[in-house]
Amino acid sequence: MKLFHCDVLIIGAGGAGLRAAIEAKETFKKGKIFLVTKGSLGASGVTATACSDRMAFHATLPYTEPGGSDNWKKHAEDIFRMGGYVSDGDLAMILAKESQAALEYLDHLGVPFVKRKDGSVDQFITDGSEYARACYTGPRTANHIEEALVKKIVSTDIRIIEHCMIADLIKYRRRVIGALGIDEGKEPGIKDRLKVFSSKTTILATGGAGEAYQTHVFPEGMTGDGYALAYRAGAELVNMEFIQIGPASIKTKLNCSGSLMRAVPRFLNEKDEEFLKNYLPEGASPAEVSNLIFEKGASWPVSIDKRTLLIDVAMFKEIAQGHRVFLDYQTNPEGFRFEDLDPKWQQRYEKEIKEPIPFEEKARSPLDRLSEINPESIEWLKEHGIDLRAGEPMEIGPCIQHFQGGVKIREKGNTSLKGLYAAGECAGGQHGANRPGGNALLDGQVFGKISGREAALEAMHFDQNLKVTSHQIERLLSKLKRIGKGKGASEVRQEVQSINSRSASVVRTPEGIRNGLKRLKALRREGLSIDEKGLVYALETENLLDVGEMVLRACLARKESRGPHLFFNRFDDPRPLPSQDPKWRKYIVIQNRSGKMVLKKEKPVAINL
Ligand SMILES: Cc1cc2nc3c(=O)[nH]c(=O)nc-3n(C[C@H](O)[C@H](O)[C@H](O)COP(=O)(O)OP(=O)(O)OC[C@H]3O[C@@H](n4cnc5c(N)ncnc54)[C@H](O)[C@@H]3O)c2cc1C
Repeated sequence: MKLFHCDVLIIGAGGAGLRAAIEAKETFKKGKIFLVTKGSLGASGVTATACSDRMAFHATLPYTEPGGSDNWKKHAEDIFRMGGYVSDGDLAMILAKESQAALEYLDHLGVPFVKRKDGSVDQFITDGSEYARACYTGPRTANHIEEALVKKIVSTDIRIIEHCMIADLIKYRRRVIGALGIDEGKEPGIKDRLKVFSSKTTILATGGAGEAYQTHVFPEGMTGDGYALAYRAGAELVNMEFIQIGPASIKTKLNCSGSLMRAVPRFLNEKDEEFLKNYLPEGASPAEVSNLIFEKGASWPVSIDKRTLLIDVAMFKEIAQGHRVFLDYQTNPEGFRFEDLDPKWQQRYEKEIKEPIPFEEKARSPLDRLSEINPESIEWLKEHGIDLRAGEPMEIGPCIQHFQGGVKIREKGNTSLKGLYAAGECAGGQHGANRPGGNALLDGQVFGKISGREAALEAMHFDQNLKVTSHQIERLLSKLKRIGKGKGASEVRQEVQSINSRSASVVRTPEGIRNGLKRLKALRREGLSIDEKGLVYALETENLLDVGEMVLRACLARKESRGPHLFFNRFDDPRPLPSQDPKWRKYIVIQNRSGKMVLKKEKPVAINL
């Protein structure tokens, strides 16, 4: 076992953790700043590895639409309004107001944002936004941000510890005073792999929990550890029912948005049946179906505010009934005629044309249209094992992309526990039910910086001598030793994923959620043992049990639909319940009180522009 003493401990090395560490060092130059990450520096987590069509970083710059010195206020309003009034208004204001500085910092570090001829940063409109605020480098914007921050961090004396999973936080009364880490590896005894960190302040930046579901677009290892650590330590969490979900390729994890929908493919099941019409209002014409598919291209995540939820619901229900779902680009959907597309969609299509073809060809098949508007995607898919030109259909499912909620933070990135801060996807309260695309990468930079600065300031002035005691270490060790009886971790993980995918994905019903909770409870009772995947995997799986329960309980408590939370009375109901405004403009706060999961409804902080 190794014992380390530091001033600020940062857990997680994605965009948020790296930014927090840099700011902590700049604030507390002589301070001992430690950054611990589960994977390799610059290669683990979402920021380092995720990519999509064109990744967005939202910022309101002096020349951003609609213009004027107050245009950041429009940005703040968008976050709050589109978020369904369940985020904290003051945090939305911080996000918007600080976005220019965040962008400029990354630009200064060398992130290659696409610029216009006059040197200004190019911006486009993303899902859920009214104005063009999305800055980008291309499909790898997040990776470029990670690379630039890593380059900066290795030029400092911040101590970096890789391949170490933080398994629990250590507390003294209501204060977090450190954390317990386990090295990845195969050494037989736990003690040889143990790292104990004694810290004056701690920042959680462990990202989201894609692995709580069967299908997601996260990289491996994203098991929501920070949510579980904070929960077990007694911190408040918020908005855990709001999770971004949309159709994605199961094999390649590519989000099926934008041109992949605007090419208007067929939605098929494994029997080659076009199933969408079975779930649409009776009598929906082929033109209505095609227009809906086209529209889905501009609203990837499911939301009660979008008509296109019908597609997500159809896909989910078809899979829940034992089918597999595919996008087919060989043949047009039944009754499709290009000229039946709404004139506004036809205009949108025209704007995207890259390699023009005659009208008869674009009317011929989705593949012809995709080659006209996004030929690169066909090549990309081929390189990743799906040959659309050879007629191969692409299997899709509802995939998880982002957790809007998390450990509840306030303006300084502080949580409800003393000494504990959170930033990035691990934190909650800054986003509401829907999150305009581009604000997650922004959030990691803004609250990464703020939490780093504030944690460093607190550590600088902290004069109590609270050290982790050997008694506390023994207690934590004995907790670890309880792992060893019960089902293998892989089996438990699969079951948790199946429960969440069934009960807390696109279609959420009271009966389904209650069944999910029952199954989770039974899993906990049976216990969990370390299998060939090792100790770290088993600990992550335990965390997934906590995350799963928080998500399910929050889903059950919110008896209305809001954002991606579609609440149905019964599975067979064609439409989800509506939002209940203003009654449900409240968020659900979750806390562990003496081992009991307690939920309470609270009114978010209003926006004051
Ligand atoms: C495919 C995809 C596309 C996206 N597109 C966009 C977009 O265009 N715009 C946008 O704004 N957002 C987008 N997002 C969301 C956004 O990228 C993420 O929310 C953001 O990158 C998360 O950053 P983070 O620093 O909070 O977490 P991450 O980057 O995920 O980093 C988490 C870190 O914590 C470490 N860690 C985890 N648990 C532990 C532990 N127990 N102990 C030690 N270390 C631990 C991990 O190894 C990793 O280093 C997208 C997400 C995906 C998956």
